[in-house]
Amino acid sequence: MRRVAVVGGGAAGFFFAANAGREQGTSVEIFEASPKPLRKVLASGAGRCNLANSLEDIESIISNYPRGGGFLRKVFRAFSPKDAVQWFERRGVNVKKLHSGKIFPEAESSAVVAAALEREALRAGAKIRTNFPVSRIAKSAEGGFDIFGGKGQARGEVCAGRFDAVLLSCGGLRDGALKRSIEGLGHTVSELAPALYALKTSPRFPGLSGVSVRGAALTFKNETKRRAQGDLLFTFKGLSGPAVYKLTSFFAREFKASGFKADFFADLMFSRSSERGASEFFRSCRASCGARKVENARPEGIAEKLWLEILSLAEIPPDRVFAKLSSAEERRIAGFLTRMPFRSEAPDGGEVVTCGGIKNSEVDFSTMQSKIAKGLFFAGECLDIDGLTGGFNLQNAWCTAKIAAAAISQTP
Ligand SMILES: Cc1cc2nc3c(=O)[nH]c(=O)nc-3n(C[C@H](O)[C@H](O)[C@H](O)COP(=O)(O)OP(=O)(O)OC[C@H]3O[C@@H](n4cnc5c(N)ncnc54)[C@H](O)[C@@H]3O)c2cc1C
Repeated sequence: MRRVAVVGGGAAGFFFAANAGREQGTSVEIFEASPKPLRKVLASGAGRCNLANSLEDIESIISNYPRGGGFLRKVFRAFSPKDAVQWFERRGVNVKKLHSGKIFPEAESSAVVAAALEREALRAGAKIRTNFPVSRIAKSAEGGFDIFGGKGQARGEVCAGRFDAVLLSCGGLRDGALKRSIEGLGHTVSELAPALYALKTSPRFPGLSGVSVRGAALTFKNETKRRAQGDLLFTFKGLSGPAVYKLTSFFAREFKASGFKADFFADLMFSRSSERGASEFFRSCRASCGARKVENARPEGIAEKLWLEILSLAEIPPDRVFAKLSSAEERRIAGFLTRMPFRSEAPDGGEVVTCGGIKNSEVDFSTMQSKIAKGLFFAGECLDIDGLTGGFNLQNAWCTAKIAAAAISQTP
């Protein structure tokens, strides 16, 4: 029986353990740093777990990974996100697919996903060792790897034993000791940065908290190409929603480099032709309801509270009638509708995913094995691969873990 150490008891580690067990001639031991495994899975999708996305065309799927998607082509051809969903369904996790493409458990609870993973890993014979942060993976001269780590040991790290192979599934590689150890084995870890988070901004509009705008666009100041499109949500401390998640994902490293301070504009009329849509709105209001107060008519898709805030920013009395708006006043309102200025101050809440990780070109994606240290495998977020919201990050974890499990099981 070959012995495999799994470093990290999260989505990828458990999916691997459930698929590379006793029946495959493999004995798996999961080392988890925290007291409880699968914490991110439990927190995922606000406790509902968006476990995959229903997109099936591989090119469309990989376009949802700002970094590293191309490397997943091979993985998804061998074991697709659809296969991963079927794996869960066969194990009693019924799912529902939303119009947006997001797939959730029918029970709307991440606990059913975590329970299925834990049950299947145990059924396959996996041992789970919690409170064991792995600090070092050492290649042994006689073959295999020694795993070191542990917590609260008076004399430092302890050796947990020798293993024929190791799966690194520790998520974002933020543990300094483990990162140095992997680099010591010859691997390169690309720069890490948080990605996919909401922003604290100035100005902020606490009174607009909960107001959303469909089809907005965020553009860095003085640039047109660096843009993120999607729905926008005003929050108590700033901005959130798909457009902000895309912005903090596409430009994760730029945000980090600037200390999360960036000036950008929100185009609230993006899906309605921006400036053209705004001038069309004023033209039609003047033509059809010139005597109407500006507070009583607003562009389609702009909530009343938001419209009143924009009028206040543009210093327009809300009881002014459309016919009396000067072109300079119209331009001021249109300016806030299409180029509302913001400065990001800091992430609002934790990151959802880490950008950066093990350099993908150092990994054979047909097996998930290291091209540098034979016997070392990778799965999930520790790779330099991260996806947008929509289930793409978990499906990276499931699919890469399954490829690694199949490859390890076939190793003589
Ligand atoms: C709040 C939140 C919501 C999310 N929602 C979604 C969603 O709905 N859909 C989606 O697709 N993605 C979502 N994600 C992202 C997704 O959860 C991760 O991309 C995914 O869990 C990555 O799986 P992984 O196994 O690579 O890493 P993880 O699931 O993070 O597991 C890594 C494990 O390794 C352990 N570990 C770390 N260092 C060590 C060490 N040195 N020794 C031992 N153990 C170690 C960690 O404690 C952790 O348990 C969400 C993330 C967050 C934070």
